[in-house]
This record gives sequence, C-alpha cells and structure tokens, in this order.
Amino acid sequence: MVYTTYEARAGVGVISLDRPDRRNAQNAELLDELDAAWTRADEDPDVRVILLRANGPHFSAGHDISGDSRDAYDVTAPDRLTSLRAFETKRYLGYSRRWRDIPKPSIAAVQGGCIAGALLLVWPCDLIVASDDAYFTDFVARMGIGGVEYHGHTWELGARKAKEMLFTGMRMGAAEAERRGMVNRVVPRESLDQAAFELAAEIARIHPFALAMAKRAVNQTLDIQGQYSSLQSAFDLHTLGHANAMIESGYPILAWDVRSLAEQNKNGS
Ligand code: ZN
Repeated sequence: MVYTTYEARAGVGVISLDRPDRRNAQNAELLDELDAAWTRADEDPDVRVILLRANGPHFSAGHDISGDSRDAYDVTAPDRLTSLRAFETKRYLGYSRRWRDIPKPSIAAVQGGCIAGALLLVWPCDLIVASDDAYFTDFVARMGIGGVEYHGHTWELGARKAKEMLFTGMRMGAAEAERRGMVNRVVPRESLDQAAFELAAEIARIHPFALAMAKRAVNQTLDIQGQYSSLQSAFDLHTLGHANAMIESGYPILAWDVRSLAEQNKNGS
C-alpha cells in the first residue's frame, strides 16, 4: 500500500490515510487502497471495530483533481461525462455507501481540514471523533456543482444549516459540528488518536452481533426515511452539475475554481 496503512490490534482495525505531503488528497489509487482496507477489516474475524484516521496535520483535502487523478479518465473525450459518471459512481458514491453498510461499527478520527470529498470518507462512518482544530467544509458550489457526491449534509445538519453550508462554503468547526450532532466527541488535538482508539476498543468489547444489529437498526431507520434513495437522487444532481459545467466551460468543473481547489489541495487550508 502506497497511500494508506493498515494494522489490527486489540480488536480494532486501524486504517490510516498516509499521503500527508498532499494533505491526504484522494486519487483513484488511494481510494482503491482504502476500499481494500475496509474489506480486509470487514473480513478479519479478530477485528470488531474499524477506525479510520489520517497522518499529518489535516484529515484530507478532498479529491485530488491534479493530473494524476485526472488520468483516471480523459476529461477531453466526447464521452467524458459517461466516464466521469462511471468513475464517481464506483469510487465516490459506491465506495462511501459500501463502507456505510459494512456491519462492523466504524469510527472516523478527524483533525485539521476535512474538505469537500473528505466528507465522503467520514460521513459513512458510524461515529466521528474530532480534534478541537478540525473543521468541515463543502465549497463545491463555487465549482458550479451543488455539493459533493455524497449528500450527507441534510441528514447530518438539518435542512437550514445544510443550505448555509452549501451556499456559503463555510467552514464548520468541530465544536459546532458536535453541537449539531454531526460529531460525537471533540478532544484536544494531542489526544485525538488515543481518545478514538479507546472508544473503538471499548465498543470492541460488546457482542459483535449485537453491534451489527444496533447499526442495522439505525441505518435501516434512515433508509426507511429515504436516505438511501436520497443519496442516489442527489448524486444524479451532482452529475447534472458536471454536465452543466462542461456546457459552460468544456471542463467538468468550472475552470476558475480548479485553481482554487488545487490551491486547497496544496495548502490544506
Ligand atoms: Zn463529481
């Protein structure tokens, strides 16, 4: 593995993003490694809880839209919307929904920036522990698209705050995210890893079948309320945003914002 690491200890499968020099920006390879790590943790009978964390000062700057990521599909080909849609269906919506539905409890430990596509990694987790310097943002409207590929916003924050987040590209700090129920616990930066691991180890002592049924009960309740089909519908609108950007600029996202996102990737800010 190049961009991630994996270890299992004390009943906890620890998956780490390990591309800190690029603020853990997600290219196709990183996401494929991540998916393989989730599978490994799911299939390991000694792992009862999955902990997703990240090396470096920031959790993730989101999707890597620099050259090495764009190589995954040809953004100039006539069928580029078809290939982009296939790429995003598999690696963005598809992976996130799959991780969300893995029966074992999962915890995301988040520090620093959790930016745009990074939300696709943490929202599928069952619990989120954040350090006091963590913030969450989706500024994709500035790229001509109505939000990231996984529409957790309304479910996580309620309709009005979800709209504010999408309209303004605001950064929501860890304390507010906890107040709104999106984050379970906020801890000092230096104790994030320990706090998240201790929570995971505590949960790992509970009967695994009971945990799986508890998780299923909550997720199934959300799905009966419409979460599953809502995620699909919002993903379709996201693709419509790419299509409109292509009409306006010839490129799947509007050009002036490519620069701004590249800067975000580089600076992690
Ligand atoms: Zn997209």
